[in-house]
Amino acid sequence: MKFVFSEAQRRHDPRHFLSSGAPQPNPEVPERVNRLLAGARAAGLEEVAPPDYGAEAIAAIHTPEYLQFLETIFARWQRIPEASAEVVPNIHPDRRDFSYPTSAVGQAGYHMADTACPISAETWQSAYWSAQTAVHAARMVMDGERTVYGLSRPPGHHAFADLAGGFCFLNNAAIAAQELRRAYDRVAILDVDLHHGNGTQGIFYRRSDVLTVSIHADPVRFYPFFWGHASERGEGPGLGCNLNLPLPRGSGDGPFLEALDAAIRRIRSYAPGALVVALGLDAFEGDPFGGLTVSTDGFARIGERCAKLGLPTAIIQEGGYVCDALGDNLTAFLTGFGSSAA
Ligand SMILES: [Zn+2]
Repeated sequence: MKFVFSEAQRRHDPRHFLSSGAPQPNPEVPERVNRLLAGARAAGLEEVAPPDYGAEAIAAIHTPEYLQFLETIFARWQRIPEASAEVVPNIHPDRRDFSYPTSAVGQAGYHMADTACPISAETWQSAYWSAQTAVHAARMVMDGERTVYGLSRPPGHHAFADLAGGFCFLNNAAIAAQELRRAYDRVAILDVDLHHGNGTQGIFYRRSDVLTVSIHADPVRFYPFFWGHASERGEGPGLGCNLNLPLPRGSGDGPFLEALDAAIRRIRSYAPGALVVALGLDAFEGDPFGGLTVSTDGFARIGERCAKLGLPTAIIQEGGYVCDALGDNLTAFLTGFGSSAA
């Protein structure tokens, strides 16, 4: 198995976010890259760098207003007297169907869901190359590689078509799925991150050509709160093409693997041509977020079961934060996947 990584993804280095109103160090740090690289290499994967595919694959998912915002907002923010060092919103529209703001502060509120996605001088370049990593993983699968792992950082699954949030800017898994659609009529996304993949769900919510399935900690008292409930099934042509499998806080390997079996049954029924695994590793029992209690061995079992679907697969990195076992958990997943792949 090969994996894709670009050094430019290290440059984004967010400082803070608010947790229950309190300023905390932002956990989406460049050190994650070192741990994940070590994990991929320990699994025996061969590294490749992505070429620059340009803006087209990103623009197939994200709106032009939003992409222009991401690319320019830091420079504009710096011209505001006494503004913060990073772009952080302090006002949000209660609905998003009124006038589009022209000011930097207004646009930050419009395009940023929360304080966990601060934008600095390096953010756009890192997010851009994180997305190119996902595009290249998808292209390699389309060109005949059975499985490719994209080490995308910053992560993507909380980003909507025009909205950053939860450490995410560009939705790498959605971009990979859209790219795979060029070769396959139907694509499934299986999101195993601790947090619900709300951006991914939102992007495909009214579409039947991409099935979105997410296993995550119950959002009743957990980020992202407003999305991820079992009642959200898709809308219009997409009705029935979104499956949420929330788990009680603290659930471990047993309940997680049961939910995974339900997810896999739904994916089989959908009969996709290809699969995107949105691979968060923060469901781990030792992850700083402490939402679920999946073990390192559990990640190997998750990898094995995903591989048994027997589909061409792009594995795209989502969350998973710095702890001793972060690299080991990636190794476990990739090794489990590789041992069961057809
Ligand atoms: Zn997460």
